[in-house]
Amino acid sequence: MFELNEEQRIIQKSVHEFAKKELAPKASFWDSREEFPWELVKKMAEIGLTGLRLPKDYGGVETDLITTGIALEEVARYDHNCAIILCGSNITGRVLLYGSEKLKWKYLPDIAKGRCILAFAAMESEAGSDIRAIKTKAKRVKDKYLVNGEKSMITFAEIAQGYIVLVKTDEKRREGISCILIEANRQGIDIQQLKGFGWRATRWGNIAFSDVRVPAENLIGEKNNALSMLTPTVQEQRALTGLIALGTARQALEEALDYARNRRVFGKPLGKFEGIQFKLVEDFTSLEAARLTCFQALHLIEKNAVEASTWAAMANLIGGEIAYKVVNDAMDVYGGLGYSRELPLERYLRDIKAVQIASATLKMEIGQGILGKEFLPYA
Ligand SMILES: Cc1cc2nc3c(=O)[nH]c(=O)nc-3n(C[C@H](O)[C@H](O)[C@H](O)COP(=O)(O)OP(=O)(O)OC[C@H]3O[C@@H](n4cnc5c(N)ncnc54)[C@H](O)[C@@H]3O)c2cc1C
Repeated sequence: MFELNEEQRIIQKSVHEFAKKELAPKASFWDSREEFPWELVKKMAEIGLTGLRLPKDYGGVETDLITTGIALEEVARYDHNCAIILCGSNITGRVLLYGSEKLKWKYLPDIAKGRCILAFAAMESEAGSDIRAIKTKAKRVKDKYLVNGEKSMITFAEIAQGYIVLVKTDEKRREGISCILIEANRQGIDIQQLKGFGWRATRWGNIAFSDVRVPAENLIGEKNNALSMLTPTVQEQRALTGLIALGTARQALEEALDYARNRRVFGKPLGKFEGIQFKLVEDFTSLEAARLTCFQALHLIEKNAVEASTWAAMANLIGGEIAYKVVNDAMDVYGGLGYSRELPLERYLRDIKAVQIASATLKMEIGQGILGKEFLPYA
């Protein structure tokens, strides 16, 4: 049975207190300004949150995946965008571990200190779920790669110091994809800002690369092997994002419970009516079940288990779906007040929708995991 150990409980409590004190008061501000909260990133770095998954040698904390999940869940209760920033930072940092020592030393210590954010750019306007269909090309010319193409809907596009980009290095094969780091200040890069429904503090955007010259040593990992190289990192990201959605939903549920205890209608507290009670009890139960799915996924990923891929996809899927329902129900409990911008519920719902959109595509991956690739046409 899954249970947190003593050390994990202490970390959970301290991150909870930190997020409540330092992040919660500013979450709405950065969301409404639609600006990247560097101020909060600096504070998170001070207690090691920006380097949770990075090796100690490069200034990280080198913690396990379950503890990372616990920390991100607590941050997400008080600031969903900050949790997404931490998740992104830890993920791009992990991908860099496949790169050269030079690249690692250039970026990892700064990522751990909260001074650097890298974006992960896979998607293109004509290749989202079908990632093997990307067209951005990197052509080797002597000691450089010449990169041409575009990337769409990239989180942190506008503020990142560099992009970890998926590029085609063998156009004849769908799997001929490599990973390359492109510094944001190189010639030939154009960023177009995008405005999203949620994740408003993450500075989302499209990136165009036109004859961008990148040193060959910026290639991360083996040429034409990016998809299998990235598998564990993508799994981590999926399970953690599911947990982030649930962290935000847990906060909404606790606020709704509190309101139901105190709001009086027809001479009684709202929570005395079964219609409200049953809704909240069902949400509490589904939320706990979904959290366990996410933690089980993290456990399997850490063990490099064969089921990890399916569980990571399930964690992301259930995380987004249950979290959305829980926040939506919390809004109903609050009535008109829940709909108003006086409360953060509308922000929670907007942010969770972003997780849900990414999750929708995962159903086919879960199908592959359960039924096997031979039954499905996508691979
Ligand atoms: C807020 C946000 C942040 C993002 N940040 C990043 C980022 O940092 N880096 C990055 O690379 N990308 C990012 N993305 C892009 C994201 O990865 C894609 O949106 C996602 O992979 C889906 O791709 P798509 O939008 O092209 O949808 P499509 O692939 O065109 O799919 C459209 C719809 O069809 C469904 N669908 C697709 N294939 C199938 C199928 N075989 N069977 C049934 N239904 C199917 C999908 O579930 C979806 O509902 C971000 C997206 C959002 C919304």
